[in-house]
Amino acid sequence: MISLQDVNDARERISDIAHITPILQSEQLSKLCGNQLFLKAEHLQKTGSFKIRGASNKVIHEIENGAKYVTAASSGNHGQAVAYVANKYGVPATIVVPEDVSKCKVNAIQAYNGKVEMCGTTSAERLPRAQEIADQENGVFIPPYDDPFIMAGQGTVGLEILDQVEHIDAIIVPIGGGGLLSGILTAIKETNPKIKVIGVEPELANDTYLSMQNKKITAIEAAPTIADGLRTNQPGDLTFPVLTKYLDDLVLVSEDEIRQAFSFIMERTKQLIEPSSATTVAAALFNKVNIRDKNIVTVISGGNVDLDKVQQLIVSITE
Ligand SMILES: *Cc1c(COP(=O)(O)O)cnc(C)c1O
Repeated sequence: MISLQDVNDARERISDIAHITPILQSEQLSKLCGNQLFLKAEHLQKTGSFKIRGASNKVIHEIENGAKYVTAASSGNHGQAVAYVANKYGVPATIVVPEDVSKCKVNAIQAYNGKVEMCGTTSAERLPRAQEIADQENGVFIPPYDDPFIMAGQGTVGLEILDQVEHIDAIIVPIGGGGLLSGILTAIKETNPKIKVIGVEPELANDTYLSMQNKKITAIEAAPTIADGLRTNQPGDLTFPVLTKYLDDLVLVSEDEIRQAFSFIMERTKQLIEPSSATTVAAALFNKVNIRDKNIVTVISGGNVDLDKVQQLIVSITE
């Protein structure tokens, strides 16, 4: 299991690459939630999501150990982050993406000089291909969440929150494979265990919720949620034990609640965030967390959303 020291080391290692992102507040939003709400703005992070933190921690570590080539299997935020870091350090990267990838995601990877290879439509096809290219090129495959360096890198979000917000009562974090949550749990619980850490998943991607209930890693068939960063169908072998050790609560939000939170943030704060991040605001807005009159930090994990999809996400808000 990773330790607070690993997260501190990560913070040092990635300090030339990742931004220290701001905390945003909206009086209106706080009022509606019945809590003082602080938004940790990782949608303003380099490459548009927190993924740059874990990716840079891992890639820099591997380069220090002689890696001359990296690969990843993700069309989303992780792929962009790996391409960005590799380019920054002058190491070639190949990102394996699905055949139905959107043009703007390919453009984003190519803008960082990443090579894009299309392979199948499922991660079961992409992962072995990315590993194969890494082996052929004497390079390293960079996993999206189930790796100590990735987890520690994502945990630096937690360290920053501790520096930026006083008297925190709770932090709400979205869950895909659990890299972000396990890192934040380590940073928070090994510093101030009184702060509650709450995970959130879409009802349609409740693999970690079921795994916690069953007390063992449980996979779901498909996760057809609009929160595309949370579609992972099971928690990781390394991330899950951290959750079972430290997590205080795990709540679920519906697709409609995600859309309402997205629309609310857009209308009131003028911020473009992605549906995966709107889950944390939804959890606060629809009071899934059962907390009143406290200081709550919601992690806004990213802001990468295809502009032609925004229309489908906007709904009128019921107050
Ligand atoms: C990857 C991602 C998540 C989930 O992170 P995990 O480490 O897989 O749990 C949440 N939000 C966004 C925007 C992401 O890109």
